[in-house]
Amino acid sequence: VSRGDFAEAGADLELVGISKRFPGFTAIDDLDLTIPAGSFFALLGPSGCGKTTTLRLIAGLEEPTAGRILIGGKDVTRTKAFQRPVNTVFQSYALFPHMTILENVAFGLKRRGVKDATRLAHEALQLVELDHVSARRPSQLSGGQQQRVALARAVVNRPALLLLDEPLGALDLKLRRQMQIELKDIQSEVGLTFLHVTHDQEEAMTMADTVAVMNKGQIEQMGAPQELYELPRTAFVATFLGQSNLFTGQVVSSNADSITVDSAGARITVPKPRAERQSGLVTVGVRPEKVSLTSTKPAEAAGVNVVGPGRISDVSFSGVSTQYEVTIAGHGPISVFEQNTSISRMHHDGDEVWLTWSVEH
Ligand code: ATP
Repeated sequence: VSRGDFAEAGADLELVGISKRFPGFTAIDDLDLTIPAGSFFALLGPSGCGKTTTLRLIAGLEEPTAGRILIGGKDVTRTKAFQRPVNTVFQSYALFPHMTILENVAFGLKRRGVKDATRLAHEALQLVELDHVSARRPSQLSGGQQQRVALARAVVNRPALLLLDEPLGALDLKLRRQMQIELKDIQSEVGLTFLHVTHDQEEAMTMADTVAVMNKGQIEQMGAPQELYELPRTAFVATFLGQSNLFTGQVVSSNADSITVDSAGARITVPKPRAERQSGLVTVGVRPEKVSLTSTKPAEAAGVNVVGPGRISDVSFSGVSTQYEVTIAGHGPISVFEQNTSISRMHHDGDEVWLTWSVEH
């Protein structure tokens, strides 16, 4: 089974000025979004930010208060759900329990009178590597297998756009990680456009080629996973995508390449291309894995930030790395992740330490 068998590749999706107001509550606020055909796009955000509402609007299960929805350039804003070239895979797989796996996958095709329904259903099951269990019933499969059947059932309809609403939410962590890789492989194989909704930042980053971070009914930042992680434009994006140590303070000096911020006595230099604002009160952040600890004060050097001294207030050893928490007067707790290179270099609870990191981080 290859991309050619699912001949129609995905279509692009465009949301133009979409709003959704419920009585007394605006769930989506003037949202613009373009998803190119064939991409694996993740909508990432905390509970209640409007992800599911956005999917329901695209699927046609909910009508927007304002704005337009276009799929493959066609305006579908007023098109009924069942007439849109869209399929949705939910967290609950909702397979028909009294039907075999094959019948479940072929069901939609048969209802539409597609001649080759059985052959196409077998092909879709091959794609998710479950054709060997096609005669079983859903209760005879594991959770992960049932989820793959749900995916085959959606893909077999060759929707221009496949919506996935927390599809892996019910699986345990190990199976979830495995399914993330499989889902990504299947998407690149069939070439459909996938829109994946999740509140799990690791899931969004490992699977999607583009991630949109949603907050309070709006998209706060959109980009490739690495770009969002390395260059978050807001404190919300910085802390939602992994951990970040934030320092708020006043810009006290500036030269051609960088600005320097004073945060409760700590002097932190940031390269200008990374600074959204270059004067006044600002917040700067550094990821825990970019910070190193030393037990003596490091020499001041260009291109290096030095903050301290502080005291280790917590040590958690996790095998590959150690997570330290450092307390410095005037700041919140600061997290530092260090790779475990050698036990003799470990710091202990109560130790005095200095924090350093390269200005580029
Ligand atoms: P979760 O990850 O918890 O599913 P979500 O990001 O998918 O969250 P939505 O389900 O889209 O969030 O809900 C967005 C907001 O709109 C929430 O604050 C919710 O309470 C509100 N909301 C959703 N449906 C309705 C409704 N029918 N009437 C009123 N408010 C609603």
